[in-house]
Formats: sequence, C-alpha cells, structure tokens
Amino acid sequence: MKRYSIFAVAREAMRYHAGWERAWRSPTPKKRYKVIVVGAGGHGLATAYYLGKVHGIRDVAVIEKGWLGGGNTGRNTTIIRSNYLQDPSAAIYEKARALYEGLSQDLNYNVMFSPRGLLMLGQTEHEVRGYKRTVHANRLQGIATEWIGPERVKELVPIINIAGPRYPVLGALYQARGGTARHDAVAWGYARACSAMGMDIIQKCEVTGIRTEGGKVQGVSTTQGEIDCEQLAVVVAGHSSVMAEMAGFRLPIESVALQAWVSEPIKPCMDVVVMANTVHGYMSQSDKGEMVIGGGTDGFNNYTQRGSWHHVEETTRALVETFPIISRLKMLRQWGGIVDMTGDRSPILSKTPVEGIFVNCGWGTGGFKSIPGSGYAMAELMARGHSPLAAEFGLERFREGRFIDESVAAGVAH
Ligand SMILES: Cc1cc2nc3c(=O)[nH]c(=O)nc-3n(C[C@H](O)[C@H](O)[C@H](O)COP(=O)(O)OP(=O)(O)OC[C@H]3O[C@@H](n4cnc5c(N)ncnc54)[C@H](O)[C@@H]3O)c2cc1C
Repeated sequence: MKRYSIFAVAREAMRYHAGWERAWRSPTPKKRYKVIVVGAGGHGLATAYYLGKVHGIRDVAVIEKGWLGGGNTGRNTTIIRSNYLQDPSAAIYEKARALYEGLSQDLNYNVMFSPRGLLMLGQTEHEVRGYKRTVHANRLQGIATEWIGPERVKELVPIINIAGPRYPVLGALYQARGGTARHDAVAWGYARACSAMGMDIIQKCEVTGIRTEGGKVQGVSTTQGEIDCEQLAVVVAGHSSVMAEMAGFRLPIESVALQAWVSEPIKPCMDVVVMANTVHGYMSQSDKGEMVIGGGTDGFNNYTQRGSWHHVEETTRALVETFPIISRLKMLRQWGGIVDMTGDRSPILSKTPVEGIFVNCGWGTGGFKSIPGSGYAMAELMARGHSPLAAEFGLERFREGRFIDESVAAGVAH
C-alpha cells in the first residue's frame, strides 16, 4: 500500500492524478480462512483490523452482502462521546474515543475526527439530576465531562433558545472532546488498512447459511460458494438475529428502524453537537453546512431501512422550539437504518453456544462512536479467549440478570 502524504498529493498533482492505486483489492474468496468476519460495517472491519494489527492474525476474510459501509455505519449522524453512566460502558466507549483521537494517523487515512464538543441539554429537573450523576460517575471513571449552566450553554450555542417555551435549558452535560468523524471514511480507512495487511474484503457476497458440526463452526454458505473457517465473527447489526438463527441459537435483540435527515447547507452557525433528549432530538452542522438531525427509533420491529414520517415531523417540530432559526430551513433528504436493540441498551460482545462463533452486536442507536473500541475488544476476545473490555458484555448477562442499564445515560442514545 502506498502511503498517503502531502508528498503523494504533490506527486500526483504533477501527473494528473493518474498514479493513485485502488484503496482496497476486490478478490475472489479462497476456500478457507482462519477467521471469517461477516459484515463490512465499522465494527466488522475494525475487528479484522485489530486481529491483524495487534494479534498478527491476517488470514481473515470480511464478507459483506452489499457494499462496505453501506449498513448503519454509512447511515449514522456520526456523534462520538463516552459520557456513559456504568463503568463497563464508560471503559469501552472511552477506549474508542481515545483511539479516534489518533485514528487518522494510525490508518493513514483522514477520518475527519472533529472533537468539537458535545452538549446533552438538561431541560427538566429530573434530567439535570440524572446528568449531574453521570458527571460524578465520569469523574470517577477518569472521563472528562462537566456540568455547565445555561449562560455557558448560550455562549457555546448562540442559536439556542434558552428560555423555552415548553422546556427551558437548565444547563448541560458537556464533553469537550466529544464530537464527530466522517463515517464513510472510518469504514474506508479500516478497509484499506485490512486489505494492505493481506486480508480479503469480499463485497456483494451474502452469507446464506452457517455450517456447524458437533457444536463447532465449520464455515459459511454464501452467494459466492462455500467457505470454511476456524472462527466466525457475526457483526451484522440489525441482522444479528437472522444470522444467529442460521447457527441454531437465539439473541435478545430487536431490530427497528432509526432515521436521520439533513437540511439545505447554510453558513456556519453551530460548532458543537447538541442533544436535547427531553424533546428527543439532536443536531450538529456538517462540514458542508447542512444541519444534521436525528431523533428516536420507530416503535415497532422491521427491516425496511427507512423510518416513518411522524418522527420527522415530531422531532423537527420539537427542535424548532429549541433552535427557532431552523424553522426556515428546507430539509433536503432523509434516510434510515436498521438498529439492533438490547433490553438494557448495551452491546453484546460474546462467545456463543456454538464453539468458534462470536457475536458483536446490540450497539443499537449508538455504535458509531464505539467502532475502534469494539473492534479492539472483539479481536482480543477472539484471539485470546478473553478481553477485559468485553468481559461484562457477554450473552450470559441476560440469563443471570446482570444488566448494564444505559437507557438513561444514553438518552436519545446516539
Ligand atoms: C439514522 C442513524 C443514526 C445513528 N446515529 C449515530 C450516532 O450519531 N452516533 C453513534 O455512535 N451511532 C449512531 N448510530 C448507530 C450506528 O450507526 C451503529 O451502531 C453502527 O454503525 C453499527 O455498525 P455495525 O458495523 O455493527 O453495523 P453495520 O454498519 O450495519 O454493518 C453490518 C453489515 O452487515 C451486513 N450484513 C448483514 N447481513 C449479512 C449477511 N447475511 N451476509 C453478509 N453481510 C451481511 C450489512 O449489509 C452491513 O453492511 C446511528 C444509526 C442510524 C441508523
């Protein structure tokens, strides 16, 4: 792989950009790999990357039924933060946030990490108490967050309507190093680095069956033929239950649509990310100038990768109260993804009842921010059989009642 650098840009500028090589190869699958990762979203690609980089396991294929990053990874609103309440969550999300800080250098690919600051507004007394509790927990966990008053909120977000009308802004949980990154670039950067390590990324290849023998994985059936493996990582977000069924076990996952939308581009007017969980909406401004808006999930299960209209209407209406200037904006486009929700709103990184099969799912509405940490922990779990970061996120917690309840700290949960 030729490294990207200022010298490479200058060299290519001199020869009409004719010398750039493809970012990743498109190989035909081999008959057998040591590890197969199903799903070329951020979590699958990061799992493969850290397997190779940290553990030296490079006989790896990442199999994707569509195109890489075409699932939730390329559909999210790119919020990155680690201000969770429970210790296991704070540890894995902060590991991810810390890895994001140096990810562009690590991957030699600009993922446009922008730690512009993130505010979760407190708009009821109950919410204020909840967020102050999270700030105290974060302090013990070594995560830099603070509670700020309404005057400071107004300073950071001049376009905000502090006074209401329905819900005045009473303050905010502020994480100064939270922010955003370019979601496609995260997938592309990991893919390029995996390909450079000799791993095969196989797109347009759907896994249609999982072969097991004597309780152990043997391989997968795909639209490009049978492929054998020693270990199988199932990292398919909203389709996790479908794949678990192929292997003969069940997952405590519900798949629902979550959507987002963007306005026409306008001049820079907001350089932080703001989440207003009482009214169930959040907003940031993209580098292009669009206001990026999202809200809650649909209240019913489905696999259609689009959301229902009432969310667009209700969320926009609620945010207009908090940011009156957006009332005059035209909304340009809207899209949806299928998110994988667990009952305690925490992920699953786990071995399964089938030897050699591992699952990484349940990130729900908030798994973009965790991609590097999740991949790091999942690779460790697969290579060593144990990962301190993943230890509490096993499947057995649902049987044993050891839930990691993040339904409050997660708020709208992005
Ligand atoms: C609208 C929206 C907004 C969001 N906003 C945020 C946010 O601001 N911040 C945040 O942290 N998170 C956010 N999220 C959540 C985040 O996007 C996801 O948690 C994360 O991207 C999940 O990544 P993944 O790699 O697990 O899944 P995905 O990116 O969905 O990848 C899974 C892949 O598996 C493939 N696959 C499925 N079945 C098969 C099969 N049988 N064979 C082969 N391949 C298969 C799919 O095609 C897909 O590409 C948002 C999600 C949505 C939908």
